[in-house]
Amino acid sequence: MGGVWSQLVGQPDAVEVLSAAAQSGARLVEGTGSAAGMTHAWLFTGPPGSGRSVAARAFAAALQCTAGQEVLGCGECQGCHTALGGTHADVRMVVPEGLTISVSEMRALVQTSARRPTGGRWQVVIITDADRLTEGAANALLKAVEEPPPRTVVLLCAPSDHPDDVSVTIRSRCRRIALRTPAAAAISEVLRLRDGIDADTANWAASVCGGHVGRARRLATDPAARDRREKVLKIPVQLRRMADVFDAAGELVKAAEADATEVSETRDEAEKDALRTAMGHGGTGKGTASASRGSAGAIKELEKRQKSRATRTKRDVLDLALVDLAGFYRDVLVVHAGSDTTLNHPDHADSAVKAAQNWSPESALRRLEAVLGCREALEQNVKPQIAIEAMVAVLYSG
Ligand SMILES: [Zn+2]
Repeated sequence: MGGVWSQLVGQPDAVEVLSAAAQSGARLVEGTGSAAGMTHAWLFTGPPGSGRSVAARAFAAALQCTAGQEVLGCGECQGCHTALGGTHADVRMVVPEGLTISVSEMRALVQTSARRPTGGRWQVVIITDADRLTEGAANALLKAVEEPPPRTVVLLCAPSDHPDDVSVTIRSRCRRIALRTPAAAAISEVLRLRDGIDADTANWAASVCGGHVGRARRLATDPAARDRREKVLKIPVQLRRMADVFDAAGELVKAAEADATEVSETRDEAEKDALRTAMGHGGTGKGTASASRGSAGAIKELEKRQKSRATRTKRDVLDLALVDLAGFYRDVLVVHAGSDTTLNHPDHADSAVKAAQNWSPESALRRLEAVLGCREALEQNVKPQIAIEAMVAVLYSG
């Protein structure tokens, strides 16, 4: 299937359900038949990288598509185009910038989403990290999910439908779309066909990305990302002395900081510029002076949001490194078990085999648990330096 659905890599079941729902939705909008199959609240679940928000956005596009029943989600019409590009007036995507979405933000969102769709079809709200909603924000959202206005659709994305991720009350009102980890072959195909990446690079990136499409694309296209992955995967075999522990820990944290800063700085400056322009800086008109006074507060507010986003970016970058690291220790256990399961890092199979000769399965497992424990500690806001050092110490001692 082409159009917007081609973005859902390796998810034929989800595509079938969503395209049928979009067709029911179109029948309802056009008053040409039964709307059975269309639901007002959806929950997209799946492991990171399986494409939860991509799927939600594709569905939003199909709901706004004006190409007609047969080819809903054509990917070409104005509706599809603007919905995918993030500029459709009736599609709102909430990407929590800090660690959570505030109650007031959520209230405002629920209010706007209750308006009549300007394009005459649907008001779509996408919440990309529903698991980061605070209890208050979730309660504010609940109203829209419980008594949805007739033309409002709420699309929630979360790692799973476990109560830790999505409250039971919200979950019970949503229809669930469970995405799976896409197969390496499907990822490689999309890298080749959509991104024009050569076959060797695409196959390699697909084989080491852990089913994460975005990560595969980054590894295939960004030498710095490849370099960082190599450095992380060298850590397990490089820990020979206690002093190596602190070096490795320091480097991990430093690399995450550098990476996060690089991402943040460009974005922060662009946002500040946009805000200054919007507030009348650089203008010469009558209102300029008072606008400057008012803008100081707005810029401060923006800086606060940017700071919390930078913290989040840094943690996300570190987490990615930890996922790679955990993959390595899993590979060591796979080698020990003599299982023919595909390795997480087939290109580092030699190191995994060597490590399996030196470590007992118990010792490899302790190392794996240390990595997973560190991920949890970071999630609980433990200072990165402290959590990482504690982890690397176990990686060294086993
Ligand atoms: Zn379309």
